[in-house]
Amino acid sequence: MTIAVPRNTVAGTEKLGFDGPGPEKSAPGKSAQEKWGLPRVVGSALRVPLVTGERVEYANLDHAASAPCLEQVRDAVDELLPWYASVHRGAGFASQVSTKVYEQARTSVRRFLGARDSDAVVFARNTTDALNLLARSLPKHTAVILFDTEHHAALLPWRGPNVRRLRTPASPAQAVLELDRALREAPVGPRLVVVTGASNVTGEVWPVAELARVARRHGARIALDAAQLAPHRPVDVRALDVDYTVLSGHKVYAPFGAGVLVGRSDWLQAAEPYLVGGGATARVTDHGDRLGVAWSAVPERHEAGTPNVVGVHALAVACDVLGRHWAQTTEHERVLLARLRAGLETVPGVHELTLFGADQDRVGVVSFTVGGQDAGYLAAALSAEHGIGVRDGAFCAHVAVHRLTDGERALRASIGLGTTEEHVDRFVAALRALVTEGSRWEYEHRNGRWVPLNDERALPPFLR
Ligand code: PLP
Repeated sequence: MTIAVPRNTVAGTEKLGFDGPGPEKSAPGKSAQEKWGLPRVVGSALRVPLVTGERVEYANLDHAASAPCLEQVRDAVDELLPWYASVHRGAGFASQVSTKVYEQARTSVRRFLGARDSDAVVFARNTTDALNLLARSLPKHTAVILFDTEHHAALLPWRGPNVRRLRTPASPAQAVLELDRALREAPVGPRLVVVTGASNVTGEVWPVAELARVARRHGARIALDAAQLAPHRPVDVRALDVDYTVLSGHKVYAPFGAGVLVGRSDWLQAAEPYLVGGGATARVTDHGDRLGVAWSAVPERHEAGTPNVVGVHALAVACDVLGRHWAQTTEHERVLLARLRAGLETVPGVHELTLFGADQDRVGVVSFTVGGQDAGYLAAALSAEHGIGVRDGAFCAHVAVHRLTDGERALRASIGLGTTEEHVDRFVAALRALVTEGSRWEYEHRNGRWVPLNDERALPPFLR
């Protein structure tokens, strides 16, 4: 299927590479880092090709999926690499340095989250991995209670008759009441409440402290999915009184493959290792027909295999840097989010998705539909014609998105440290132009995605 649209200005334009000369489409905005004294991100001056042959500064409005790397994280990784060696078991000096880096990272993460001294800090690959680890570590017959609009990473690891999914209500106060009721009805025994700090669909902030109070009153534990909250707001585990917190390095500007589970160590210590292998074992003995295995204590118990010291170091440095810049970060995002939402209100047909209403506190994530327009098509055109990166679809939260859109796919724009006013303004103007005038290029629907016809945008040199 192709869509033919008017005003195709492309015929005859020269194909341009990343580094070739080309007509400027729009001047780069003043960097957010300069304006607010924010930490700088790698790639803030990235220029991407358009299908029209021009090049523009990339407007990354997809921070909620993966945030760019902080320059300080990249520098710290560069500094570590010459010292990179095996963690824990090596006798060499570089191994000792790497081991110290790895273990010190637990302190940075603990400080970033205000965790209790007794909390275990277990490194994982990402939030999904950390939540699956927690799910595998629950005592038998633990009743799990959660709201049904969670991200799949928090929705799916818990299965079976003891899982109760509550329909997400229309207000935070109602959520607290619903949880209270569910906990009153829950079977006797261990209970775990799972809640996100901020929705990856609407950006809305959940009433975590209130939910934790209710959980505590009923003797339940509570796990916080901080994947979307931690990049935008300080998370204080003790003030919120949550038992477990999970997050991903790649969402907090440390894209080197590490995530973390922080929380009470007793269930983790009692559980069989999540992964089995080297590192998780204190001793293995041969008994002929069977092996005797003494598992290590937490955290090593759940960190089998060679640890990702580079990723963990990156995560720790990101935590340290973010932790020193909350005032600037939150103000920067508050201003840009207001600009983004105000801009979207001026685009015909835009309907912003919300769980709790337009006035609910939210981080820099906005999802919306545009009456009668296909989200995937708009996302493809925003990229191909305007150099803007957004998300389309159901954002790994199918229940939430389908309920809020009656089954339609949505668009999501999300901001962060790399976002400028110019990115936001360009996005709003581009969306308005697409909605009111149509695209300037032709697209076809191929393998479930809209793609530009005759797309000659050059890949960066390392991919050619
Ligand atoms: N939870 C939330 C709220 C998310 O937004 C995401 C990712 O988008 C996840 C969990 C899963 O994170 P990851 O893909 O890093 O495991």
